[in-house]
Amino acid sequence: MSKRDYYEVLGVSRDASQEEIKKAYRKMARKHHPDTNQDDPEAGKKFKEVSEAYKVLNDPQKRSQYDRYGHMDTGANGHGFGGFETEESGFGDIFDMFFGGDRSGFGRSSKRRGPKRGADLQYEMEITFEEAAFGTEKEVEIPRTESCEECGGSGAKKGSETRTCPDCGGSGQVRQSQQTPFGSFVNVQTCSRCKGRGETVDDPCPHCRGEGRIRRRRKIRVKIPAGVDTGNSIRMQGEGEAGEPGASPGDLFVVIRVKPHPAFERRDDDVYSEMPISFVQATLGDEVEVETLDGKVKLKIPPGTQTGTRFRIKEKGIPHVRKNTRGDHFVRVTIMTPRKLTEKQKELLREFSEDGGDEISKEDKSFFKRMKDAFRMH
Ligand SMILES: [Zn+2]
Ligand SMILES: [Zn+2]
Repeated sequence: MSKRDYYEVLGVSRDASQEEIKKAYRKMARKHHPDTNQDDPEAGKKFKEVSEAYKVLNDPQKRSQYDRYGHMDTGANGHGFGGFETEESGFGDIFDMFFGGDRSGFGRSSKRRGPKRGADLQYEMEITFEEAAFGTEKEVEIPRTESCEECGGSGAKKGSETRTCPDCGGSGQVRQSQQTPFGSFVNVQTCSRCKGRGETVDDPCPHCRGEGRIRRRRKIRVKIPAGVDTGNSIRMQGEGEAGEPGASPGDLFVVIRVKPHPAFERRDDDVYSEMPISFVQATLGDEVEVETLDGKVKLKIPPGTQTGTRFRIKEKGIPHVRKNTRGDHFVRVTIMTPRKLTEKQKELLREFSEDGGDEISKEDKSFFKRMKDAFRMH
């Protein structure tokens, strides 16, 4: 059945204020409350109608949607309004997040009748750190519904005719007018016989059984641009499921996941790594080779470098996915304390220490001997 206009249900004008709507709701709710109308079998229904009207008109956003598009199935349609538009630039278009679901949205789906656009598909792809940094090209195999090649999506057997649908006369829509105490309403629905195409098939295509579409696995080459990161998705226009005959196919969204790298860590477009150096290198200074995305790069360690010092190697990070810039490589040095030393090295270090004014207790002194020494002192 067709729904009554919400403003009529509450008995207010279309430009009624929120206050007027609230007042009208209270009045109507009291009037139709099932508890006070126990002998009216319709009371429950009316009460529900009033509550629903109030729920929409009391919410400014829902009200403005209602004003623009009229009744919608606000209950079941949880995916919100069609605010999610992407550029129609086609292949390789990137944006940060993909929210999934039917992107045709409320506004359009409530207005558009006729054959349905194909569904969007999502494919998760794992790539390496380097592939994310420099881009790559990969082949994926996607199970999807495609337009039948045999009949070109018409669903009609080769040589057989398609006819104008007798139910809708070719419009793809069926109109039903309905009389209510408030006037007549016209209810427009997609023709169930031709599913909105406006044509019917006499002899169905045997390949797709008249559906015009078939399931198959399709290999698709995906170009991954340099600089992508986990969560990015690449939209491939028209590579989703086939639509109903006459409608456009959906899109394929390839969602990227980057595998962790054993030595590199990414923060935005910058790469971080660690570099162990000896305390001699740190003390006296040295030139070392640092592994970067571009291979080995020379780095000067200045004398007196402390552990934890971070050096920046400019523009050896990750290229920005959209801009023509590149991040940096940050290398943090850690100073390694030697574990195995020769007697000579030990002696040199003691000498080194004494020369600087620090006395180091001899390693070969036993615990007991050191205890004795300590007692002798007092
Ligand atoms: Zn076919
Ligand atoms: Zn029809």
